[in-house]
Amino acid sequence: LQERKLIVQIIPFENRRQILVTHDVTETERIDMMRRDFVANASHELRTPLTVINGFLEIALAQPGLDMEIRTSHLKLMTEQGQRMQNLINDMLTLTRLESVDYPLRAELVHVRPLLEGILEEARALSAGKHKLTLEIEGPNLKGNLDELRSAFSNLVTNAIRYTPEAGSISLIWKSHERGAKFVVKDTGIGISQEHIARLTERFYRVDKSRSRETQGTGLGLAIVRHVLLRHRATLEIASVPEQGSTFKVVFPASQTVIPA
Ligand code: ADP
Repeated sequence: LQERKLIVQIIPFENRRQILVTHDVTETERIDMMRRDFVANASHELRTPLTVINGFLEIALAQPGLDMEIRTSHLKLMTEQGQRMQNLINDMLTLTRLESVDYPLRAELVHVRPLLEGILEEARALSAGKHKLTLEIEGPNLKGNLDELRSAFSNLVTNAIRYTPEAGSISLIWKSHERGAKFVVKDTGIGISQEHIARLTERFYRVDKSRSRETQGTGLGLAIVRHVLLRHRATLEIASVPEQGSTFKVVFPASQTVIPA
């Protein structure tokens, strides 16, 4: 149990009586710590690719006559690292925007079929024929923000591909649910052991840092998913068995669904 900290101030009032003011700073301190962690993590994540880029730039300056082939391979590595920094900054900006209290949800009618068909197409490109991908759609449309929902769904599908070895299967299902509607992403990938599941949606939390970097993950994907779902009153359930696969289930309440005419 966390110890609570209170600030107590005694303020003179009308020369006689006194008023006691208390502030609970436990929450403020927790937010402060989270902010410090975020800055430390983000700086570290940005420093790594920058170190690689600077290293290759130094080589290029010190060895102007470097073989063309080597030079091209260095340029390719630098481009990859630049892309990594860009992904990270984009995700950080998205997350900051989603978290700000004065950023209202711009809700519209979202047609689920074209949205999921588009995501499936992207997934096919990313998988490059290495996985079996299926999509099943039977259910209502949604009230929500198209871009936010696309980014949340696409994050879940991208993860399923990233963390599923070749020849594995990934199924996407959109279906009516007793509480409204559900979107399920099921993979036969590496899975996640129980102790990690509860922490997956924390910013920069990764089960295996090096693997996530290899796959161009920023470590912010599921934090973005969580915020988008919160804004849409939806819940996320994660079930997984190591080395067998994972299921990410999003449930939208009936208030967020629209039955097609
Ligand atoms: P990342 O960019 O590292 O993928 P995410 O926030 O999207 O960050 O995911 C956090 C971590 O959750 C990942 O690093 C990975 O360890 C784990 N994870 C997410 N999706 C899956 C999945 N489908 N199968 C196995 N592990 C997953």
